[in-house]
Amino acid sequence: MPHNIYRCFPGGKHKALTMSYDDGRTYDRKLVEIFNQYGIKGTFHLNSGFLDDDEHISRSEVKTLYSGHEVACHTVTHPTIARSPLPQVVQQVLDDRKELESLVGYPVRGLSYPNGSYSEAIKSVLPALGIAYSRVVGDTHGFGLPNDLYEWKSTCHHTHSLMEDGNAFLALHKTQYLYLMYVWGHSFEFNNDGNWNLIEDFCKLVGNKEDTWYATNIQIVDYLHLCDELRFSADGSFVYNPGADTAYLSVDGKMVEVPGGKSVTLY
Ligand SMILES: [Zn+2]
Repeated sequence: MPHNIYRCFPGGKHKALTMSYDDGRTYDRKLVEIFNQYGIKGTFHLNSGFLDDDEHISRSEVKTLYSGHEVACHTVTHPTIARSPLPQVVQQVLDDRKELESLVGYPVRGLSYPNGSYSEAIKSVLPALGIAYSRVVGDTHGFGLPNDLYEWKSTCHHTHSLMEDGNAFLALHKTQYLYLMYVWGHSFEFNNDGNWNLIEDFCKLVGNKEDTWYATNIQIVDYLHLCDELRFSADGSFVYNPGADTAYLSVDGKMVEVPGGKSVTLY
């Protein structure tokens, strides 16, 4: 007899929120402070070639400022890469990784396409460059998981119905689905538009909720891969987790933890 076995987000949750902010301008300082206040996690896509000038974050503060969040690539100098020769694109990504890794001390595996520009050829080389996902430009106004991690589209840019989408996300309660809200933008926009209250109101609305997993972009990617790697017995009565982190399942409505390196009986 088959059972209802579902993957859950960490903690057995069925909702996740992630934020994605590009360019590493100095306004990231204020944005990180707001995220931290409400327990919200984000990914900051940086152009290593611009660090240290007047408008951007300095190299020396990258590690501490973004601690608890993810630092990811946005290429060294922000070219419109679909127009660039592929060997240049490779250098733009790999050199960005190397420089950012020298600052944060962990493998940098995320990317957002500068100016939203990409091609099938670029997508196809990214795995060989150690890039695990890349964000595109555009809104789905939906809460699904990404179908293509190298063409990861957000729920919304923060100027596009952020509070409406946030309220819709809050109202989701059917635990038979997994829901992901993904917001992107640039911190300097809050300064240009004079609307820091927008992101504060949003974080206040969706932050510190029991049913929501607050994660960086790469944490979501790694967790989905962890779930993909679970080895279920033919009858589904037990599962082996070959990964390092705990996976969370729902078995006939009951949450089951599957620790890394362990086999667990499900029913
Ligand atoms: Zn950018």
